[in-house]
This record gives sequence, structure tokens and C-alpha cells, in this order.
Amino acid sequence: MEHKQTIGILGGTFDPIHYGHLLAAECARSAFRLERIILVPAAQPPHKEGLSFADKSHRLKMVKLAAADNEYFEVSELEIHREGLSYTVDTIKSLQSLYPHSPIFFIMGADALLLIKSWKNYQQIASLCNFIAVTRPGFNINEAYKSSTDLPVTFWSKVIHLEIPAIDISSSLIRQRIAEKKPIKYLLPDTVESYIYANNLYTKE
Ligand code: ATP
Ligand code: MG
Repeated sequence: MEHKQTIGILGGTFDPIHYGHLLAAECARSAFRLERIILVPAAQPPHKEGLSFADKSHRLKMVKLAAADNEYFEVSELEIHREGLSYTVDTIKSLQSLYPHSPIFFIMGADALLLIKSWKNYQQIASLCNFIAVTRPGFNINEAYKSSTDLPVTFWSKVIHLEIPAIDISSSLIRQRIAEKKPIKYLLPDTVESYIYANNLYTKE
């Protein structure tokens, strides 16, 4: 019989991946005893239409480098290879058909939860998986409840909170620091830092 492994998913633009992402995934894994964590870099994030990103092949490689030293972490190329905007609902459906017996937990930061009502078919996503909303400096998870009191209890019952150590790092901050020629060491794995410099990423902002 197939083992019903619990799976945590962390989706993102990962432009670039940093310690905030890795800490969120690792804390969720440990707190909820998730047996594997799948990092899913987006090809075209719907919330960031019109913005430009590092090429998806670069972002994918950096996520793979960052995931390499954690035996529970793996990387999915589902969104990278899918045409059009990268909707989470499509990704969850694909992962569910790949792993039909595995409960899925979708991990996100407080900022993402605040935007949940703008996500395509968010009610359907909530029917397919659970959400783990992790704390993030500058964003208040409770605000999400206040601004979404119209959402049914069935939705909120799928959202679990997790307090994690506050790491005020964002990909935007890293891109800005590179453009300003400031150090990024200790904000993200050394392997990712080297990859960024070797490929001359984010030098023009
Ligand atoms: P950008 O500044 O470009 O938006 P980002 O740092 O927010 O980048 P994303 O790829 O947008 O990174 O985020 C992917 C997911 O990781 C989101 O759910 C986001 O809330 C979460 N996340 C990112 N950084 C942190 C952090 N420092 N603490 C907690 N969660 C985080
Ligand atoms: Mg973001």
C-alpha cells in the first residue's frame, strides 16, 4: 500500500530564493511533521504581471541550489513548464493527481494570506488542501481575518497559523542591495550568492 506522505508546498517567484523562504519551509515541516517539502518556482506569477524577473531557468537553478542541503526538500518544475500564468489552484490539482493519497499543506507568508481573495479559485484551493500561514515581519495575519470576514468558516478552518522567527528578508531587498552594490552574504545560501554573481543577475534595477 502506498504510504500517505504528508506534503508541504511552498510556491513563490524566488527571485531570488533566500533564508526567509527556507526558514518558513523548514519551520512548517518540523511543526507539522511534514514528510516532504516541495518548492515550486512560478513561471509567471499572476500577482506580479507586468513586472520583469530573472529568467525562470535562473530562478529554478537557484531554488535547486538552495534545496540541495535539506534532505526533505525537493523542487517541482510543474509551474516552470506550464504555459500562461502560474495559478496555485492548477498546481495543487496536479500535485494531488500525482500524489492522490498525500494530504497537502500549502505554506505561505502572512503577506500572501492578506491577498488570498485575489487568488484564482481560492475557495477551491481551500477545499483541496490546508494552508499554513507563517508570520512575516511587517504583515499582520490577524488583518487577513478582519478584511475577510465574509469568507466562510469552512475556509478559515483550513488555515493554520505558525509563528516563526522573524527574518525581515525579501527578494526585493536582495535585488535592491545588489543594484546598490551592498553585500547579500548571510541573507541567502552561499551557493545562491555565487550563482547570482557568476551570472550577473540583478545588477541593473
Ligand atoms: P518579493 O520581494 O520579490 O515579493 P519575496 O521575498 O516576498 O519576494 P516571494 O517569492 O514573493 O518572495 O514569496 C514566496 C512565499 O514565501 C510567499 O508565501 C511569502 O509570503 C513567503 N515569504 C517570503 N519571504 C518570507 C519571510 N522573510 N518570512 C516569511 N515568509 C516569507
Ligand atoms: Mg513577495
